[in-house]
Amino acid sequence: MLHPDRLLPADPETRPIARRLYGEVAGLPIVSPHGHTDPRWFAQNLPFENPASLFVIRDHYIFRMLYSQGVPLDSLGIPRVDGAPVEGDARKIWRLFAQHYHLFRGTPTRMWLDHAFETLFGLSERLTPGNADAFYDRIAEHLATPAFRPRALFERFNIEVIATTESPLDELAWHKQIRESGWAGRVVTAYRPDPVVDPDFGGFLANLDRLAEMTGEDTQSWRGYLAAHRRRRAAFQAMGATSTDHGHPTALTADLPLAEAEALFARIRGGAASAQDRELFRAQMLTEMAAMSCDDGLVMQIHPGSFRNHNPSLLAAFGRDTGADIPTRTDYVRALKPLLDRFGNRADLTIILFTLDETSYSRELAPLAGHYPALRLGPAWWFYDAPEGMRRFRELTTETAGFYNTVGFNDDTRAFPSIPARHDMARRVDCAFLAGLVATHRLDEDEAREVARDLAYGLAKRAYKL
Ligand SMILES: [Zn+2]
Repeated sequence: MLHPDRLLPADPETRPIARRLYGEVAGLPIVSPHGHTDPRWFAQNLPFENPASLFVIRDHYIFRMLYSQGVPLDSLGIPRVDGAPVEGDARKIWRLFAQHYHLFRGTPTRMWLDHAFETLFGLSERLTPGNADAFYDRIAEHLATPAFRPRALFERFNIEVIATTESPLDELAWHKQIRESGWAGRVVTAYRPDPVVDPDFGGFLANLDRLAEMTGEDTQSWRGYLAAHRRRRAAFQAMGATSTDHGHPTALTADLPLAEAEALFARIRGGAASAQDRELFRAQMLTEMAAMSCDDGLVMQIHPGSFRNHNPSLLAAFGRDTGADIPTRTDYVRALKPLLDRFGNRADLTIILFTLDETSYSRELAPLAGHYPALRLGPAWWFYDAPEGMRRFRELTTETAGFYNTVGFNDDTRAFPSIPARHDMARRVDCAFLAGLVATHRLDEDEAREVARDLAYGLAKRAYKL
């Protein structure tokens, strides 16, 4: 099922160059600087429950596609907010998934799944309703063996380091347990402060109370609130964090004078702030986070442009992260200016920008990252982490930002078995792109080889200080 030349250029001139380049990087270790795997897996090292929970229930890439074709989320075992019963028969969920496997034709999800089925479980046929049970049995049988425990898979995947993402309110107990276990696998956390930075986040005011309890700082005051962040950032660094991650609706930043920031915080803390104030607060907090990064060295990731929870009835029934986050148009040039006016020229600060608006790549992001020393460009992600999206990313950004203002690949996933497939896809696509430059005599092959290694490995390590 997995063709050795998949995703490499089809033309006979370029393909052998791409093959040679890919041969250089195929076996490099995986550096995964941004993602959403569960640290509990690596702490407890318990077997994954069953094929449905591993491949379907955790992965909104999968269940949103079935939902879009009218398959109810209950029938896929997605837990409900009210705790009402949902389908609990993993084999039934798996059969339903297999019945809809054709929906993934042409998508990257299909390639990731096929890659995992074949390389992990030796399943080299295409999944169909007819072989669904045989697939289920084979996968379940393997998951019960020691070689398929989370730590064993981590080692088998050749993961050098992986970052998870936690809220400042997380006690990081799983990370602590991993560190104390003596296991050599490197799992680090990342600071994702949205629950205590975004006034529109569910439970925001209660979250600030909790932040006060955790840190002993007075989060009723602006100064105390900022001090609480500093304490939590330090606690995250003690658990290996090298980065922060900010999922704001827009890239807006602000740099208010102290008195105005204090007054804004008081309005936010009072719970009656306007929508404009709430947006201004998020904007101010990006600049505050950049200021803290200048002190503690954490690399900052900004992931704006997702309209979260677009479907209110789904949010009410199933909560967040159910595939109802939709990309929006995003402005960077004006939005980032207050932050860049203050910190853009600092070469000791790294801010990695991501987008869900591809029109911004050549118009805004590559020119910004191709100028400001503090800025780097994150890879194609989420809706664009497909071969076409990755290729467009290179085509739209290399002209202005080059390769060395980009940061390698992020798998950004909670679907653990797909990690090798995702990195392999990125390596193939980058090698295909580089092979085109070599074939058209724009780059020597020895340079292309060096770039291929950097894109697959070196840039992520350096940009994220891993
Ligand atoms: Zn992410």
